[in-house]
Amino acid sequence: MRRARYAKIPDLGARTDEITIFAGPCSIESLEQFDAVAETVAHLGLSWIRGGAFKPRTNLHSFQGLGEQALQIMNESSSKHGLKTLTEVMDSEHIKLVQDCCDGIQIGSRNFQNFSLLRDIGIATAESKTMVLFKRGFAGTIAEWLSAAEYITQHGNDNVVLCERGLRTFETATRFTLDISAVPVIHKQSLFPICIDVSHPAGQRDLVPSLAKAAIAAGADSLMIEVHPDPQKALSDGAQQLTPEQFEDLVLELRDIAAVLGKKIV
Ligand code: PEP
Ligand code: MN
Repeated sequence: MRRARYAKIPDLGARTDEITIFAGPCSIESLEQFDAVAETVAHLGLSWIRGGAFKPRTNLHSFQGLGEQALQIMNESSSKHGLKTLTEVMDSEHIKLVQDCCDGIQIGSRNFQNFSLLRDIGIATAESKTMVLFKRGFAGTIAEWLSAAEYITQHGNDNVVLCERGLRTFETATRFTLDISAVPVIHKQSLFPICIDVSHPAGQRDLVPSLAKAAIAAGADSLMIEVHPDPQKALSDGAQQLTPEQFEDLVLELRDIAAVLGKKIV
């Protein structure tokens, strides 16, 4: 399933004036579903699409992802639209499979201190320098996050993007509490680019645009936004996913904000 690779997003230390958006459905559910989002993402001139194949679900009885079949869908659709692909790896046994067919590997919040997985991903990507998007644990400090990142980078892959995705706090009005301060703190304390996942902290789609605008204003290097052609029917995270139309409107607004900062959204 090896596919053509496209240019990487900025490597370590190379934070640039480009803001990368990782958009796509929470879970890859079918070719039609994924392709509808891919078409929107490509039409907007963006470069990456995300989608879950192996899903970390709190409830065993919830949809667990289509696994390998999802990777095939991702591969087919992204090749057609010329998009780079990002998906989560939860088990060491799937690293090679994902590395061979995707452009980026996501490590989810629930695995943020799964040191053996981090080490295995670091070893597997040491030569290829595949981009690793490393999410912060929802109960993890920034110091723990930066320490954990070393398990990935110690073997030579510095192409790591840190992703803040909200913390568990006493607040229940949102799904998680977005720690926007992570942007300047990570910029101050490390050389890593930082991505803000605005969908998982929001938990509700109407809150997503405000968080996305705040993230860009705060100086985020990248955003993650979940998009689904029919969110009401989504098999995971339906309440927080934007429709393609809502996503398109948001990207146009974000482009204006980015321009004020002398940045470009890609
Ligand atoms: C996701 O990105 O779909 C996901 C499961 O994220 P997190 O690990 O932040 O919960
Ligand atoms: Mn999700």
